[in-house]
Amino acid sequence: MSSGREPAPTAGNGPTEKCGVIGLSLSDRDAAFPAYYGMYALQHRGQESAGIVTHDGFQQHQHIAMGLVGEAFEESDIEGLTGTAGIGHVRYPTAGSVDKSNAQPFTVSFKGGSLALSHNGNLVNADTIRDELADVGHAFTSDGDTEVIAHDLARNLLESDLIRAVERTMTRIHGSYSLTIMHDDAVLGVRDPQGNRPLVIGELDDGYVLASESAAIDTLDGTTVRDVHPGELVILQEDGSGFDAYQLVEHDQHAHCFFEYVYFARPDSVIDDTLVYEVRRDLGRKLWEESGVESDVVMPVPDSGRAFASGYAEAADGVDFAEGLMKNRYVGRTFIMPNQEARERAVRLKLNPIRSTVEGRTVTIIDDSIVRGTTSKQLVSLIRDAGAEEVHVRIGAPPIRAPCYMGIDMATREELIAADMDPSTIAETIEADSLAYLSTDAVAAAIGTDRSNLCMGCVTGEYPYDIEGEPTDRAVSRPAIGEDEPRS
Ligand code: SF4
Repeated sequence: MSSGREPAPTAGNGPTEKCGVIGLSLSDRDAAFPAYYGMYALQHRGQESAGIVTHDGFQQHQHIAMGLVGEAFEESDIEGLTGTAGIGHVRYPTAGSVDKSNAQPFTVSFKGGSLALSHNGNLVNADTIRDELADVGHAFTSDGDTEVIAHDLARNLLESDLIRAVERTMTRIHGSYSLTIMHDDAVLGVRDPQGNRPLVIGELDDGYVLASESAAIDTLDGTTVRDVHPGELVILQEDGSGFDAYQLVEHDQHAHCFFEYVYFARPDSVIDDTLVYEVRRDLGRKLWEESGVESDVVMPVPDSGRAFASGYAEAADGVDFAEGLMKNRYVGRTFIMPNQEARERAVRLKLNPIRSTVEGRTVTIIDDSIVRGTTSKQLVSLIRDAGAEEVHVRIGAPPIRAPCYMGIDMATREELIAADMDPSTIAETIEADSLAYLSTDAVAAAIGTDRSNLCMGCVTGEYPYDIEGEPTDRAVSRPAIGEDEPRS
C-alpha cells in the first residue's frame, strides 16, 4: 500500500489485505498437507486466494489459486508439492479486485537462489522502495507491497548473509508485517518491530511451524511455543529439530492491532499470551460496568458478539442471556460486500430474529463494532419488527472513526458512521433506544497491556507508523530510503 493515501474503499481496487500466513519445517514428511490443514484453520483471515510453496532441497513447487482453501486445492495439487519445507497464505478479498497477481505466496528466483514470501500486513513506504528498486532495474509484476519486500530481500541476499539481509530489509521497510519466508529450503518468520500483526511458533511431533494464529497449531495437534517477538527473526531448522531466534530490531513501544482481539482473530487463538475468547468476555464485562442498561434479555449478534454478550450478561447478573438472532452460515461477512445494495441484502440473508426471545421485551444486543451503521440499523429494525419494545445497542469496542493503513480493509472515512457522528446521533440514525461503546482504557485493560502498546489508529485517527498526511501517536522514524548504506 502506498504512503499517505487513504485506503481504497472496499468496493475499490486498493491492494489492502488482511491475511493468514503459515510456514513449516518438518523432519521427514512433506509440509504441504499440514500447511493445507493449517490454512483451513486460518481461513477466516482471508478468502480470496490460497497458496502453498514448498521446497524439496533442490527446487520450489507451488500451487496458488483463487478461492477458499477447499476450492483452491485438489488432492493431486497437494501431492505435487513435495518437500519438508513449505509456506502458505490465505488472502483477504478486496472486492472488485480479484487479481491473481496479488495472490501469495509471492515467489522470486534470483542469482542467490529462490525466495517465497507470505505477508500479513501493509507497508506504508512500499512506493518509495519500489521506485528505488525500479531505478536499479527491478521489474515488478504486481502492485502489492509483498513483492517489494521480496525484491528488497533478494537484493540484500546478494550482498549479505541471511540474517544480515533480513535485518537490512527490516530497517528499510516501514509498516505492518508478519511474514513467513522460504529462502531455498530455509523457513523464516519475521514480525515487524511494533508487532502489529500476530505470529506464533508451534512445535509438532516432527518439526516446527510458524502461523498467524495458534488455532492453526492446535489443528495440527501441535503445541504453541511462544509468539514471535516484535522485531524478531525466527529461522526453523531444516531438519525440523528446532528453531533459532534473532532479535534484529527493538522498539520500546509496540502497536498490537486491538481489532485482532475484538474481531479478527479466532476466539480460540492465543495472541501474545492472551486467549482471545477471554479478552472478549472481559470486554463484555467492562461494557456492562461502563454503560450497562437494564433490559429483559441480552442477545449477541452472532457470531463475534457472542463472547462479549456472555461476559456482559454475567456481569449484569440475573438478566436473561439468549440467542435471539439466527445466522445463516453460508453468507459472508457483511462489511466485505462490494457495494451498499449487496450489504443491505446480506444482513437480511444472514440473520433472522427468534420472535419468542424478543416479543414484548426490552432487548440489548451486543456487537463487536459498527462500521458503516447499515448492519446495525437493519438489525434494530429486524428486532423491532419481531416485537421488541425497546432495542438497546452495546458495542464491545470504541467507535471506529478512521481508516486502517495497516492492511485491514475496513472502510474510508466517508463510509464510517462514527467519523463525524457522536454515539447519540448514531443511536438516532440506527433507530436504537440507546447506544454505547467501550472506552479505549477498558480495551487496553481487557487485553492486559498498556494503551501505548496498542494500535488504535482506526479509533483515534493517530497511527503508530509514519503515514503521510496523518498524525502519529508516538515517536517514529521512517527509514531514509537510499541513504541507509552505500550500495553496490
Ligand atoms: S488501525 Fe485499527 S484495524 Fe488497523 S491495525 Fe490499527 S487497530 Fe488494527
